[in-house]
Amino acid sequence: MSVDNSTPDAQTRRFDSLAVHAGQEFDATTGAVIPPVHFSTTFAQDGIGGLRQGYEYGRSGNPTRTALQRQLAALEGGAHAFSFSSGLAAEDALLRATLKPGDSVLLGNDVYGGTHRLLARVLAPWGVEMRTVEMSDPEAVRASLAERPARLVWVETPSNPLLKITDIAELVAIGHEAGALVVVDNTFATPALQRPLTLGADVVVHSVTKYLGGHSDVVGGALVLDDDELAEKIGFLQFAVGAVSGPMDAWLASRGIKTLGIRMARHSANAAAIAAFLRDHSHVARVYYPGLEDHPGHAIASRQMSDFGGIVSVAFESGELARRFAESTTLFQLAESLGGVESLVNYPDAMTHASVRGTDAAVPVEVVRLSVGIEDPADLIADIEQSLRLATR
Ligand SMILES: *Cc1c(COP(=O)(O)O)cnc(C)c1O
Repeated sequence: MSVDNSTPDAQTRRFDSLAVHAGQEFDATTGAVIPPVHFSTTFAQDGIGGLRQGYEYGRSGNPTRTALQRQLAALEGGAHAFSFSSGLAAEDALLRATLKPGDSVLLGNDVYGGTHRLLARVLAPWGVEMRTVEMSDPEAVRASLAERPARLVWVETPSNPLLKITDIAELVAIGHEAGALVVVDNTFATPALQRPLTLGADVVVHSVTKYLGGHSDVVGGALVLDDDELAEKIGFLQFAVGAVSGPMDAWLASRGIKTLGIRMARHSANAAAIAAFLRDHSHVARVYYPGLEDHPGHAIASRQMSDFGGIVSVAFESGELARRFAESTTLFQLAESLGGVESLVNYPDAMTHASVRGTDAAVPVEVVRLSVGIEDPADLIADIEQSLRLATR
């Protein structure tokens, strides 16, 4: 737990350089340019209690995990980062570190389903209260906090799957005035496009499984923050509860993160091209993409994001057409999850968001979500075109 997570160059180097180098220094003994994966579960001591660089046992600290944590801290611009076995394990550690029975959490009404489930079905029985609000509406948030204070305000922006945008700096001002900590789940934007800590947020949450890992081959999660006292509590829970990322998972995540900047640029460019194509199509009722000028959050997104990301959602003329489209693509594969180099299509109502059907978080049956990959955009658009031809035949 006394392992040093800081990266000396984080102050001077720029994002893409940090992505490649932060925490990834060559191996001191061999000169190996790629740091080795440390599988050892235990570390020899130079006399009783004589630990080398703080390493003692694999759950309390592992050099490969440290390397990932330093990379994450540098990219989000935070003092502390903690890596977990999944995004939900990271969220669980944060919730336990900050909440006690009787405390309340205010969530966006379209927050990730697993976050909702963790609070509603795991923490609520322990006396934590949870409620939801339209987080992109500052007046609604202010009114909800005036009615009943919350310990945490939890936002995703862009949100899933309707890509709603919340002004992070404004939400931070509202939350802090009401005495709440503001948590941003930055999974969709990633630090390549948006850095919530620089906008005043208290904690950044990640599902590393998505864009950070980037290749749909590793499940992981992370927390990044500045506050030393809260970091101490989270570090203790990471050690005491033990939902740590394993060495191979941490290494795969670090390898993925090295290309985050160029991947997000390509994801964003491809998504923008597809959003523009879909908007002009006759069977499309609405395209949800914050890069489109008529998106209600476009001005805020342009301010707080450097680009608009790789997720595009689209409402077709009917639910039937949406289903047929999702089952007709060939390059876009029909699957849950998002953020990999390969393009995926998801039908939220019956897939990722089936559990919130009939609630205020339900996704319209006409909506399909595209996780736009880094393939050639002409092939992606051709796939959408042929799929629409098939689906409307
Ligand atoms: C996937 C996801 C999570 C949960 O992460 P896991 O790695 O699946 O546990 C949390 N938030 C968002 C926005 C996600 O997309």
